Amino acid sequence: MGRFHLLLAALLALLPAVPAMAESPRAPVVILVSIDGFRADYLDRGVTPNLSALAASGISAAMRPSFPSKTFPNHWALVTGKVPDHNGIVSNHFEDPRRPGERFGPGNSDPFWWNEAEPIWVTAEKAGIRTAAMFWPGSDVAWGETRGTRPEDWQHYDQAVTPLQRVETVLDWLRRPEAIRPRLLTLYFDAIDTAGHEYGPDDPRTNEALTKADRYIGMLVQGLRDLGQPADLVVVADHGMAAVSSERVIALDTIADPALYRVVDTGPFAAIEPAPGHERQLADALLKPHDHMQCWARKDIPARLRYGSNPRVASYFCLAQVGWQIAPSAPTEPSSGGAHGYDNAAPEMAALFVASGPDITASGRIAPFDNVDVAPLLRDLLGLPPAPDADGDDAPFRTALRH
Ligand SMILES: [Zn+2]
Repeated sequence: MGRFHLLLAALLALLPAVPAMAESPRAPVVILVSIDGFRADYLDRGVTPNLSALAASGISAAMRPSFPSKTFPNHWALVTGKVPDHNGIVSNHFEDPRRPGERFGPGNSDPFWWNEAEPIWVTAEKAGIRTAAMFWPGSDVAWGETRGTRPEDWQHYDQAVTPLQRVETVLDWLRRPEAIRPRLLTLYFDAIDTAGHEYGPDDPRTNEALTKADRYIGMLVQGLRDLGQPADLVVVADHGMAAVSSERVIALDTIADPALYRVVDTGPFAAIEPAPGHERQLADALLKPHDHMQCWARKDIPARLRYGSNPRVASYFCLAQVGWQIAPSAPTEPSSGGAHGYDNAAPEMAALFVASGPDITASGRIAPFDNVDVAPLLRDLLGLPPAPDADGDDAPFRTALRH
């Protein structure tokens, strides 16, 4: 035995005889993970072994996003239990008649835009449950009219923070002493959405991105195991992805004279405001039948989309057939890739849902459900009462919950 080893042995002998394992067992935590743009059927491709293992040990489903199947409205629906029409984040880009000349967009953390529905971390913080967000749309917002509540730990979104750093941050939070350890955590990954947009849902490079993202889920699971930290993991996506092409574009300027309107948002759907004095002409141009697209005045949007009662929804709304896109004018260069924002009932828009942990029994695949049911599930897992005004409930999970 060398001198170093002797020294080490001497030091070890000085340590208390009680092993570290004798620390009181950790209380379970709830971790809500979003893998942006992870389409439900990606799970069946055989390229995500860690997610498949989680699904096998718990429950999984093809989850219906809320309409419109965009990132911000759905991340907010997942944590508020309300559809975008009721949670106030009606799209990734939208306007509010009370703030003329302003437009909401990703990265806007002015509480004005977010205050229409309470996110679960605010409910939890109010109930004395410590929360921490390793990114989630809206988690950097000082939520509420007066006090301004954020998760106890939060960060401004920065895509440059690597997936490994995100996982390590969550694990570091859980290494803290119990008094300052969060019990509800969020974790957000963006790479699958980015790959889906760039390459399309069926490209081998998207599958490579899936395998990579799955490794970080594996690291999280292993890290929790190493810590001895029981966790109810709820892994979701905000929406799916459909293949698109510059060959399938509806040019708005071929349907109505651009002098008649102002475009608020385009893509799988278009949000359009009439130019003052041109309401009638615009209505005549939009509200007739079109190939691959249908338009409505806000009040006439079909009830099944649960969209249009919020004044933040544009005066006119056009929805493209899946795989088609609405653009201000015809594309000048060929392109292909993926998009989302379509009818939330379209199978291409269905999103990942996997949940596993000490409070969830291994019940396999469950029937498709709406993503506004996730917040009620999180409330159950945290021991919070149901929200009186939620759009969803915990019915899809009741037989799989232990308590
Ligand atoms: Zn997204």
